[in-house]
Amino acid sequence: MMIVVIVMILKKDIITDGNPLLRQRCENVTFPLSDADEKAIQDMLKYIDMSQDEELSKKYDLQPGVGIAAPQIGILKKMFVVKAEDENGVLHHYALINPKMLSHSVQNSYLQSGEGCLSVPQIHEGFVKRHYKIKMAGYDYLQKKDVVIVAKGYISIVIQHEYDHLFGILYYDHIDKNNPLIPIEGATEI
Ligand SMILES: [Zn+2]
Repeated sequence: MMIVVIVMILKKDIITDGNPLLRQRCENVTFPLSDADEKAIQDMLKYIDMSQDEELSKKYDLQPGVGIAAPQIGILKKMFVVKAEDENGVLHHYALINPKMLSHSVQNSYLQSGEGCLSVPQIHEGFVKRHYKIKMAGYDYLQKKDVVIVAKGYISIVIQHEYDHLFGILYYDHIDKNNPLIPIEGATEI
């Protein structure tokens, strides 16, 4: 008899704001990857894939996401997944382990629509200040090699959002509380 076990992250597995795990710094992942770390990254990849599939997201009640970081499933390790299209419709898909920001532009940017987070059910209106362009190094589990990613615009913002999770930072920490909806001076609106 074959037993098929569907392992995946469901809504209940994603921890939400107020849980202290979301406010802690993550540790580096050691290589070779442990079974637990590998499972975590595969689960995150699967969640994002499924959440972006209209039928599956409905069936399993998954909130669509363009990225997820390990602390959001309660694992304090430096790992996150990003899957999103840039302004030109080009897909960017990464599963980064031990990412490190190498540099970023002086130029800032923000999303006109504001940001959201699978772990933050409350609404925090306001523009989130980000770097327009970033350069990040890490090990990409999808390509199975060390990579250096240069990203700008929307993808840069998605990566910064996930990277922040590894340091216990949530998107609304970057909102100017006194002027949440005043366009950020000198920043590129995306
Ligand atoms: Zn988030």
